[in-house]
Amino acid sequence: MKKQELSAPLIGIVRHRLATDGKGVTTLVAFHSCPLRCRYCLNPQCLDPDMVWRTVTTSELLNELLLDNLYFLATGGGVTFGGGEPLLRSEFIEEFCRIKPAEWKVNIETSLNVDRTHLERVLPHIDQFFIDIKDTNPSIYKQYTTRDNAQVIDNLQWLLQHEGMAEKILVRLPHIPNHNTQADVNRSRAILNEMGITHFDEFNYIVNPE
Ligand code: SF4
Repeated sequence: MKKQELSAPLIGIVRHRLATDGKGVTTLVAFHSCPLRCRYCLNPQCLDPDMVWRTVTTSELLNELLLDNLYFLATGGGVTFGGGEPLLRSEFIEEFCRIKPAEWKVNIETSLNVDRTHLERVLPHIDQFFIDIKDTNPSIYKQYTTRDNAQVIDNLQWLLQHEGMAEKILVRLPHIPNHNTQADVNRSRAILNEMGITHFDEFNYIVNPE
C-alpha cells in the first residue's frame, strides 16, 4: 500500500525574502502551533486552534515553492521553516527535504524547546539554525514563556557536539521589556559563548503600550 503523504497546518507562506532568514532569496513557511506561551508573542495566530491558514501536503508545498526555484538557485537561497515551532513538524520537514531539489538551502527558526527526537530527525537536512533562546536564566525564561528551559539548553549542548555546528547556528538574544535587563542579556551571551556559540543577534522587542 502506498505510504500516505504527510500534511501540516500553516499560518503563512512569505516569498522573496532577501538575506533576512538565511542566505540568498528565501521563502518562509510558517507552521501553526507552539509549545511556548510568550508574553509578547509575535505570531499569536499560531496559538489559536481556529487560526490555521491552510493545511498542505509535502508535495503541495514543493509545487508552490518551485515557483521560486530560479531565485533559489541563482542566489544560493531556499526555504526557511518558522512558526510557531517548526520542529513540532519534524516528520513533515524530513519528508519535504527528501523530495526537494538538492541545491535548496534549508533554514529553521526554532526555540529548541522540543523533544530531542524532533531535532535528531531534521538535523541532516538543516543548513542554518536561528535559535530563539529568549534568556538563559530559567526563572526569566519561565516567567516570559510559562515553560522550563532545561530542554533548550540540553538540545543546544547536543547540537554543539556535532562537528562545525557552531558555524550553522545564530542565537537570537532579545531584550524583553519588563522581563530582562542588559545585564541579563550579557550574562546569557557569556554563558552561550562559553558553550561554543559565536554568532549572536541581539535586539530589542518593541512592545505596544497596554
Ligand atoms: S516561541 Fe514564538 S510563536 Fe511560540 S509563543 Fe513564543 S513568540 Fe509565539
